[in-house]
Amino acid sequence: MFPYENYLRLDKLPHIWCTGCGCGIILKAMLRAIERSKIPKDSIALVSGIGCSSRTPGYVDFNTLHTTHGRAIAFATGIKLTKPELNIIVISGDGDATAIGGNHFIHAARRNLNMTVIIYNNHIYGMTGGQASPTTPIGNKASTAPYGSIEPSFDISGLGIAAGASFVARSTCYHATQLDGLILKGLLKKGFSLIEVLSPCPTYYARPNRLGTAVDMLRWYKENSIPFERARKMSDEERQGKVVIGILHDTEKSEFCEEYQKLIRKVKGKRR
Ligand code: SF4
Repeated sequence: MFPYENYLRLDKLPHIWCTGCGCGIILKAMLRAIERSKIPKDSIALVSGIGCSSRTPGYVDFNTLHTTHGRAIAFATGIKLTKPELNIIVISGDGDATAIGGNHFIHAARRNLNMTVIIYNNHIYGMTGGQASPTTPIGNKASTAPYGSIEPSFDISGLGIAAGASFVARSTCYHATQLDGLILKGLLKKGFSLIEVLSPCPTYYARPNRLGTAVDMLRWYKENSIPFERARKMSDEERQGKVVIGILHDTEKSEFCEEYQKLIRKVKGKRR
């Protein structure tokens, strides 16, 4: 039995998430990954913005910061630059990270800042009432798109890769044990690591789109996810409507904090 209580602020429970929400599954996978990483609790800073996912830091016993909407990565950047010894984990949602915080997301990835960003992608703004987010699939309904969204949606992982992240992985709440391993790899990776997790929102996403219960959503993830290695051998048509999971991108490249320290040493050397 995993000792979750070692990592939880039990006095903050019960949590606020709806029955069947995927947020708790991701939280638990993150705790298992942290345990496996052997990173000391006190050296972790967990930063979130606003949204259902962003309540995560309130329930766990690390250095935690619950910030403003979309700005988690901006706050996390400040922490990392002033205390580079800390291991930074950012918790964000699809709306928080790719709409309001879109610029922070792409520029932190471009800089390859050493942090692990976990994005809970439930295709909707949950906490604020089910508005369409940048990942609401075209044609799907939201409170701000009652006749179906007419906007193409973002591929969060693809955006992270294109912007310059050194590690990008995708999973779903059905693949909870695979998720541990992906988050662990992200934690141990030097540079910007992105873990996108498809997460059920039975309340505001499933209901208007008639997707059934949380169990139905998990079943859909199970039946429609394909591992990256298999997806590579499939045509675009065969991949249509499928969720490609696993490590999508893993590369070595210079990391921002190290480059910044090098620059400081260089500038100081010149002044002597
Ligand atoms: Fe989870 Fe959706 Fe409820 Fe928010 S509104 S807690 S995302 S199920």
